[in-house]
Parts: sequence; structure tokens; C-alpha cells
Amino acid sequence: MKSAPFDYLAADDLADAGALLREGGKPVAGNQSLGPMLNLRLVRPGRLVDLSGLPELRRVEEREDCVRLGAAITHAEIEDGEAADPTGGWLRAAAAGIAYRAVRNRGTLGGSLAHADPAADWVIVMTGLCATALLAGPEGARRVPLEDFVTGPFATALGEGEILTAVEVPRPGRGARWGYWKFARQVGEFAKASAAVLVDREAGRLRCAVGALGRQPLLLDDPAGLIEGRVDPGEALRRALPERAVEDLALHVTALRRALEAATA
Ligand SMILES: Cc1cc2nc3c(=O)[nH]c(=O)nc-3n(C[C@H](O)[C@H](O)[C@H](O)COP(=O)(O)OP(=O)(O)OC[C@H]3O[C@@H](n4cnc5c(N)ncnc54)[C@H](O)[C@@H]3O)c2cc1C
Repeated sequence: MKSAPFDYLAADDLADAGALLREGGKPVAGNQSLGPMLNLRLVRPGRLVDLSGLPELRRVEEREDCVRLGAAITHAEIEDGEAADPTGGWLRAAAAGIAYRAVRNRGTLGGSLAHADPAADWVIVMTGLCATALLAGPEGARRVPLEDFVTGPFATALGEGEILTAVEVPRPGRGARWGYWKFARQVGEFAKASAAVLVDREAGRLRCAVGALGRQPLLLDDPAGLIEGRVDPGEALRRALPERAVEDLALHVTALRRALEAATA
């Protein structure tokens, strides 16, 4: 099936994009998630506003304590190291596991987070890394921690006419460790279960996040207990999700164990 007809407008800069969206329209970046939805007619916007060439969204800013990755940076640019990776390779490795190269060439960091598929790689990885989403909209600019940005399956904190402009990834402290595990039926597919673990004692950041649960990433209580082996991963997940059958959780528990092993080995 082909999409319903729509107008296509490529914005010149952030101000232009904001004005076009205020007049009505839906943003598009890499079109890798929106395209299939248009073709299935799950969405029928009258107008698409292309953000993929906006200079403000294509920028990478290296700061003392973080790197700001523009929302229109593609998965492939992160994979290839063309965009600075403050983690020394954790982002590159995650990017390489998204879909296949043709999708990574077009798909963007911001598009993935704005789409907020519960099984998406950036949704869990950026939550695990304590990243912050930078938004710009009719009311001005604001910052939202990733754990508050994704509010549910395919739901975000983006308001009407707001644009995700960048993602701020903190520079890990000395000796920081990371574990990311994704179970997928085939290499490059969306996760069936995923988990991310950050052990950054110097910066005071300890995080155990579980993804692909059909909701926003779950941040587990007592990450120190999990990281130090005092809390059992299965028990932690059962406590956090008491309504779910234990059988359903086996894959998620294993993903969490593997991410913990990678971050603590
Ligand atoms: C075959 C296939 C396999 C895939 N496998 C995986 C996978 O294994 N892991 C994974 O994580 N992803 C996977 N994806 C999804 C892929 O990563 C997409 O690139 C990503 O989800 C969307 O990015 P995009 O730039 O294409 O966004 P688009 O499709 O252009 O837009 C997606 C949504 O975000 C909105 N949007 C886009 N940019 C912005 C912005 N800056 N501000 C506000 N709203 C915005 C759009 O309005 C739309 O609602 C797969 C996709 C395909 C087609």
C-alpha cells in the first residue's frame, strides 16, 4: 500500500522548522519508522516537515562533561565514529547493532527516540547512560532526562510543535564500565529483551535499565545491590513487575544478567 498524499517541505533551519510545524505538520528525519507507518496508513499527516538537514540538528558539540549529539545524526555516523563518542566506543557498538546498514544510513538518533519504540536500541542505551534530551518548541527550549522523555510505548514528553534537537551524553568517569545486552531473533532486528548497566562510581552514576518490556525502560531500584551481587536480577525484575508471569520474564532476566556480567567482569 502507498501512503495517503501529503505535502513535503524541507526546513532550512530550526526557526523555519518551528514555524512550519506551528502551521501544522509532522516532522520527518530518516523516514525509517515513519515511512512504513505512512504506507500502512497508520498516520496520515497532510504535511511532512523534513528535519534531516537542519544545521542545528546535524551538529556535534564536544563539551567538558558531555557530548551533545544533534538529533539528525544518523546511526551510521555514530557507528563509523564520524560523530564523537564520549563513551570511548559504547555508542558505536550499540549503533552497529541497529537494523542493517541501509536503515542505519538514513535513520537518526532523534527519530529513534521520538518514535519511542519500546524495543529500540537508543531508547534503552540512552536511558542507561543517563543522557538528557534537549527540546525546542513554541514555549522555548527545555531539557528532559531520558527516563522522563520516553513516557510509554511510542509515547514521549514532546509537546505540540516541539522538536528534539539534541541528546546530551555525559562523559563517563575514570574506570567506568558498561554492559548492554540485546536478544533479537536475528542479528540487526529489534530486541525481544534488552538491558543496559552503567557502573560509573567516579561520577556517582549506577544504573540498571531493562528494555523491550512493551513500555518505557524500567530503571531498577538498588542498582548498587545488583552490581555488587547482593540482589538477584530475577528477584529484582519480579518485584518491579509483579503483574507479569515469571515465564515471560526469563529472557529479560537473562539479558539483565548478561549486561551485569559485561559491566562487572
Ligand atoms: C527494517 C528495519 C529494522 C529496524 N531495526 C531496528 C533495530 O534493530 N533497533 C532499533 O532501535 N531501530 C530499528 N529500526 C528503526 C530505525 O532505527 C529508525 O531509524 C528509527 O526508529 C527512526 O529514525 P528516523 O530518523 O528514521 O525517524 P523517522 O522515521 O523520520 O521519524 C520517526 C518519528 O519521530 C518523529 N521525529 C523524527 N525526528 C524528530 C525530531 N528531531 N523531533 C521530534 N520528532 C521527530 C517523526 O515525526 C516520527 O513520528 C528499524 C527500522 C527498519 C525499517
